[in-house]
Amino acid sequence: MTGEYHFPPAPDSLQRERESIDGHAIPRKTHLAKRKNKPPLPLPSPTRPAPAAAGGGAARRHFRCARLPPRCAQLLLVGRPFPALRSAGSDCCFGIHPEKIMSNVPVAVVTGSNKGIGLAIVRDLCKQFKGDVYLTARDPARGQEAVAKLQEEGLHPLFHQLDIDDLQSIKVLRDFLKEKYGGLNVLVNNAGIAFKVSDRTPFAVQAEVTLKTNFFGTRNICTELLPLIKPYGRVVNVSSMVSISALGGCSQELQKKFRSDTITEDELVELMTKFVEDTKKSVHEKEGWPNTAYGVSKIGVTVLSRIQARMLNEKRKGDHILLNACCPGWVRTDMAGPKAPKSPEEGAETPVYLALLPSDADGPHGQFVSEKTVRTW
Ligand code: NAP
Repeated sequence: MTGEYHFPPAPDSLQRERESIDGHAIPRKTHLAKRKNKPPLPLPSPTRPAPAAAGGGAARRHFRCARLPPRCAQLLLVGRPFPALRSAGSDCCFGIHPEKIMSNVPVAVVTGSNKGIGLAIVRDLCKQFKGDVYLTARDPARGQEAVAKLQEEGLHPLFHQLDIDDLQSIKVLRDFLKEKYGGLNVLVNNAGIAFKVSDRTPFAVQAEVTLKTNFFGTRNICTELLPLIKPYGRVVNVSSMVSISALGGCSQELQKKFRSDTITEDELVELMTKFVEDTKKSVHEKEGWPNTAYGVSKIGVTVLSRIQARMLNEKRKGDHILLNACCPGWVRTDMAGPKAPKSPEEGAETPVYLALLPSDADGPHGQFVSEKTVRTW
């Protein structure tokens, strides 16, 4: 048998819930348009208030553009309309719209958060995280519907499009976070897929599609966004207990590699690629792989997290960043079906606990966590 989760299809009640949030007006556009064909913006840095001659009243805040040549070292007034800035003088200030001035507000991003556990994580973060919380979705309409649903609950998530299968989409988000926030405080890699057990798609195709999103997509996000994580940042990679059972189904040789404390990211990528290739040649079982594409993809996520945590220890030890993989439990979502014991809110508990580990916590880090408890890998 080559299927994945033994989960029945989503119940009518879930379907109705989805339909009931359709049709809400799309709220305000919250992300900034990307500059086309222009060099990276020089970002202004806060400075002391300008003299009155610069045009500012006492209550106004001013910023001095740090990277302008001397002739253009003018003060930019926050809130003054962009055309006024342009006409105020130098062409070096041409691209600095006041909205682009960097925010010091902490920021959290949750991937795949238009529904299911991701949506519940955003809901919790909106209540508990002191900063901006970005609900992201590959489909903007589904994302905006989810934002509208949370707004009805009195919450204020922001929205940004993100398809983790699309490197360009990831880079647009990366550039946006860099420009607007100068980095990122919390990243929850939640987006994932699983074929239903009844799905008749050939196993090799299931393997390629599942690994593409769950492992390679998650890895691409990490490659682009981990360098942006600020000191005391938190990263949560949503894996699954299935990664542990799938590890048990691997050959001794593979288990040893996946448990190794020295395996590199390149070696892991090679192994994940080999799994996909082995399924195409129908030799994956002979090569020591378990018969679950979802399970192997989540082995990849758990091992990737262990490697990334090790890299943070080596390269950014003083930054106190904590990065972990976790399992949300078996949760009633479109992926897992109606028979699962946990609600999405209950499923969000462990990811949110890891996302909000206090600044004085020195762990968990590089662990696989379920029910807020570190599990043996
Ligand atoms: P879900 O209800 O199916 O939601 C999955 C979310 O991921 C959706 O928002 C989906 O967006 C998004 N997504 C899928 N591919 C994406 C892509 N390429 N780019 C961006 N977003 C993408 O599933 P869930 O149960 O909430 O699962 C969330 C995470 O928990 C997954 O990583 C899953 O493997 C893990 N997990 C779940 C359970 C469980 O029992 N439910 C157990 C263990 C682990 P669309 O709406 O556009 O498809």
